[in-house]
Amino acid sequence: MTEPQQHSHEEYLSLVSAKAIDGKSLGAQVRQAVRARIERCGKPVRLDAVLVGTDAAAQVYAQNQARTCKEVGIDYHLHPLPAGSEYATVADHITSMNADGVVRAIMLHLPLPAGVDTERVQALIAPEKDVEGVNPVNIGNIVYGRRSLVPCTALAVLELIEHTGIVLRGARCVIVGASNIVGKPIAVLLMREEATVVSANKYTKGLRDLTREADVVIAAAGVPGLVKPEWIKPDAVVIDVGINRVKGADGVTKTVGDVEPSVAEIAGWLSPVPGGVGPMTVAMLLRNVADAALA
Ligand code: NAD
Repeated sequence: MTEPQQHSHEEYLSLVSAKAIDGKSLGAQVRQAVRARIERCGKPVRLDAVLVGTDAAAQVYAQNQARTCKEVGIDYHLHPLPAGSEYATVADHITSMNADGVVRAIMLHLPLPAGVDTERVQALIAPEKDVEGVNPVNIGNIVYGRRSLVPCTALAVLELIEHTGIVLRGARCVIVGASNIVGKPIAVLLMREEATVVSANKYTKGLRDLTREADVVIAAAGVPGLVKPEWIKPDAVVIDVGINRVKGADGVTKTVGDVEPSVAEIAGWLSPVPGGVGPMTVAMLLRNVADAALA
């Protein structure tokens, strides 16, 4: 496999100035709006996060989250549970948070210890407090188009697409990747907009022919550089959800997306990695917290 090209966020934007969807700045605008809303309402808003064990990446994520929450006026309460906690311990903790009236927004850091069924635990989170949109009730409500808390990455993708001004009704959209928490909710949100949606996965035949016809391509497969320029129709909107850590020729590990950066020469719009879907996803979580807390 050829190694994806590397650019810093700033280099990237300068290379594709007319086409980049700047998730960093759009995310900052959303965070500012959340902060203004929290200030206006004058009520305390908090996020309660459960972290089981000592996974290093989850701990870094939790620290970053605490800082981001503070910036917008959200009190971040971390609930650490011991490594090796069993299902019953995690379940009891979630149940007590559900019953606590002060707790209005709950998120669960992953991974959970081996042997603890993640989906079973996620299904316990009270739907009205489930700010990651992982409870099947919230997922189901998306299908019905009812007001609910929607998975943050899917919301972020829709926000970025809307920023381009494309009319989604009748647009042909291909989503490369069909996971429960990313690809499938994106597909449903696009269907709600009356787009024509193709959900592709690793078994899809003729994927390149499908994407070449698409007005919008969303890459969410977790395969570095999967989507190539020749897969893309001129002027299409391309959203790169992938976050892949790959070692460059210089031996340094970097973050790259699922889309070859040279797609920017063909596409009308492209969300970069890093600096696209990632920061917007963080902003959507904060917006969900405000929605849950101030409902
Ligand atoms: P997943 O492994 O659960 O699902 C991957 C999906 O892609 C599956 O449906 C699989 O069939 C499909 N797929 C794999 N290889 C393919 C191929 N060659 N062609 C077509 N389809 C293929 O992954 P996930 O949790 O949905 O995450 C996908 C990517 O998005 C990862 O890189 C992940 O790190 C990233 N991600 C980003 C954010 C964000 O906020 N930016 C959030 C969540 C996940």
